[in-house]
Amino acid sequence: MALYVQKFGGTSVGSIERIQAVADKVSKFREQGHQIVLVASAMSGETNRLIGLAEQIGEEPDARELDMLVSTGEQVTVSLLAMALKARGIDAISHTGAQAGICTDTAFSRARIQTIDTELMQQELAAGQVVVVAGFQGVDERGNITTLGRGGSDTTAVALAAALKADECQIYTDVDGVYTTDPRVCSKAQRLETITLEEMLELASLGSKVLQIRSVEFAGKYNVPLRVLSSFEDGPGTLIVAEEYELPQHMEEALISGIAFNTNEAKLTVLDTPDVPGVASKILGPIADANIEVDMIIQNASASGERTDFTFTVAKGDYKKAQRILEEQVISELGGEVKGDSDIAKVSLVGVGMRSHSGIASKMFQTLSKEGINIRLVSTSEIKISVVIDEKFVELAVRSLHTAFGLDRADISEEA
Ligand code: ASP
Ligand code: MG
Repeated sequence: MALYVQKFGGTSVGSIERIQAVADKVSKFREQGHQIVLVASAMSGETNRLIGLAEQIGEEPDARELDMLVSTGEQVTVSLLAMALKARGIDAISHTGAQAGICTDTAFSRARIQTIDTELMQQELAAGQVVVVAGFQGVDERGNITTLGRGGSDTTAVALAAALKADECQIYTDVDGVYTTDPRVCSKAQRLETITLEEMLELASLGSKVLQIRSVEFAGKYNVPLRVLSSFEDGPGTLIVAEEYELPQHMEEALISGIAFNTNEAKLTVLDTPDVPGVASKILGPIADANIEVDMIIQNASASGERTDFTFTVAKGDYKKAQRILEEQVISELGGEVKGDSDIAKVSLVGVGMRSHSGIASKMFQTLSKEGINIRLVSTSEIKISVVIDEKFVELAVRSLHTAFGLDRADISEEA
């Protein structure tokens, strides 16, 4: 008998039929004798609908009232789930975040969980009840309802699993696990049996949206075994493990666990800027002051030692603004010229295997050059190599790298 925290996302509870299907699934676990804490998101689209209502009242809704509003989506699903379980003869009780003892700070719409009082939940579990908890929400010191940021139900689930010392936190979603890359781009992508937390963090921050990043960080901090699996079909999903794992035999050559890509960036270059101390902060200071997040930063070594080029990337949405700042506040002082390109994509290889193996970067560059893809920028970390290329090549790059690094599914033969 095990204690599982099981989280079901928006599409998994998106209709009455889906809620019935979740109740069937959970009933089976109960019949096997497991204790279950169920965490649910709002029905798919509901949180957006609620935010839309608030925006009809005024452009900047009051933060406290907005949390009061958007937290209602989850109350709908937890109560319906508890009803559906009871209808199957399974004892169940639904709770808001506050009732479940989830206390947060007061940062509305991005609150952080501070403590969880598990006493009531523990009593209910001991009494054989399925405890159904509204995800995404908590309560501050003064009893205000708070929410944890978009996608926050994942964090609720992991936090409850940590507090209750659950055997596993299972995130049920509309995909059957974490893939080597996006299957919509690469038909040979395969589900990973396991992935390390570190790799998952890289993949999550690189734009694969399976889990809210904070939930993965939380799982690492509190050592929560975390599994991503499909709510629509049975299967083992992907287990996210803390430690480096032995590479499965068939993937011995796969030093890379996954390939992430992001077409939502743009790059800016200040050409011919003085190569003296303080220039980087003169360029990036005004950008930071405007709350624009910078991703990659590359400064060329100058041949003459006097002037150089300085390049960085920002989200596409910030491109025009960043360009204007450079033109109006930076080159007016430093001289030089601003150039930019928003038709770019970042493609990244991620794998803990990189630590112990060399030659991955050169193989990546070779693979891309064979396809005639020009590399505009490169950046690396211990377990990641990212390149910036022209956006039109992103799919070709992902597919060819997927093949070159031995990630293709074995059961699909080469395309003609
Ligand atoms: N319902 C919230 C959202 O849409 C929380 C979640 O789904 O995890 O962001
Ligand atoms: Mg989600």
